[in-house]
Amino acid sequence: MILKTLYIQGFKSFLHKTKIDFNEDITCIVGPNGSGKSNITDAINWVLGENSAKSLRGSRMEDVIFSGTDKRHGTGFAEVTIVFGNDDGAIPLDFKEVQITRRMYRSLESVFMINNVKCRLKDIKELFLDTGIGKDGYSLIGQGQIEGILSSKPEDRRQIFEEAAGVSKYKLRKHESELKLKRTMENLTRLQDIIRELE
Ligand code: ATP
Repeated sequence: MILKTLYIQGFKSFLHKTKIDFNEDITCIVGPNGSGKSNITDAINWVLGENSAKSLRGSRMEDVIFSGTDKRHGTGFAEVTIVFGNDDGAIPLDFKEVQITRRMYRSLESVFMINNVKCRLKDIKELFLDTGIGKDGYSLIGQGQIEGILSSKPEDRRQIFEEAAGVSKYKLRKHESELKLKRTMENLTRLQDIIRELE
């Protein structure tokens, strides 16, 4: 799986639709302070499901929408599309290219799409589980994160290895099944109470 292209529009400092091709010639992005380098990695995190304003270096989620300058009005929505080459089938979809889109309006209404088909955020998260990509993946290492990993608690570190080893997908499904089982047991107890009342 390779990161091919990123489209950013109305997101943070990117007012106009901007296309960034990550071909093999790109090894780093340089620019003056405040020119928007980190906004590119924020855009990648956001499109892959980051929902914490703090992790996106803002105080409210709305802060990701272009807020305007002296000469320009703010925009009504932010949209980011990320395109992955999937020749190796690492993303479990039968497509050579997988495109993920996230759009958010000032009302905070959000739209997620996989290859232009509307989906839930959960679908995107599941698609990238155990690929190392995603808001909890380790393909993007933020400033200070390495220190965080080294000094984290053993349980936290174990979680990192489980994600890398491909175990976390099954842990998540196990947790969901346990919750369903618990709900079913509660329903059963309620039913037994009703039956007892009726007898
Ligand atoms: P540094 O080298 O200092 O880390 P950088 O190139 O990584 O800087 P960023 O942090 O990506 O820069 O971008 C900061 C710029 O983005 C600031 O000029 C800020 O005003 C602008 N910015 C952030 N959010 C918005 C927004 N919602 N609307 C408009 N501009 C924004």
